[in-house]
Amino acid sequence: MKIVLIGPQGSGKGTQAKILKERLNIPHISTGDMFRENINNKTELGMKAKAIIESGGLVPDELTTAMVRDRLSNPDCRKGFLLDGYPRNRSQAEALEGFAKIDHALDIEIPDALSIKRLSSRWQCRKCGAIYGITIIPKKKGICDKDGSELYQRDDDKPEAIRKRLEIYHKETKPLIDFYTKKGVLARIDGDQPVENMLKDILGKIS
Ligand code: ADP
Repeated sequence: MKIVLIGPQGSGKGTQAKILKERLNIPHISTGDMFRENINNKTELGMKAKAIIESGGLVPDELTTAMVRDRLSNPDCRKGFLLDGYPRNRSQAEALEGFAKIDHALDIEIPDALSIKRLSSRWQCRKCGAIYGITIIPKKKGICDKDGSELYQRDDDKPEAIRKRLEIYHKETKPLIDFYTKKGVLARIDGDQPVENMLKDILGKIS
């Protein structure tokens, strides 16, 4: 079960992936999370990526592809994986073809206005990564319901960076819908619906 998730910022890819990884027993590989971890740990890759990510731009393909290729070579990916945030442009999609055969590309779409609304109200747990927003509100402001850790807002969830990320999505990532349609693996999912309904739609498409 090798799955890539496509969809604009705030479409719910991460939320669905966190549920699906348990259901399908395959790892959730989020390039955004991997970069943020590298930034937190101040690795060489993190240092290179930090300013680019905060401004909402894309990390160079060579760095990103090397990171993903390395991660997918891990034995836990043998049975499958959920790739969230990669590929993000045609050159990454072509590179991925060289080291993995994708079974499903799920395109979770929402309108830009909803992306902006969701991202600007998004809070995430520093410890477990749980995401809160318009519909899932923490019981205590700024505190994670699950483990009591602090919630934070991402640096790139600022208006200017959100605009740039959406622009890049439309220009560079959206063409992948056509790429995966031609490969016969694309499924479209409506992202403007409750988490459970979306999950049901996804499970229906991949079963
Ligand atoms: P979002 O999809 O909401 O923009 P992510 O957490 O997936 O957020 O990614 C955050 C940032 O990490 C991106 O804006 C980009 O700078 C970088 N990034 C993630 N995946 C890639 C990728 N495949 N190629 C280049 N940069 C990436």
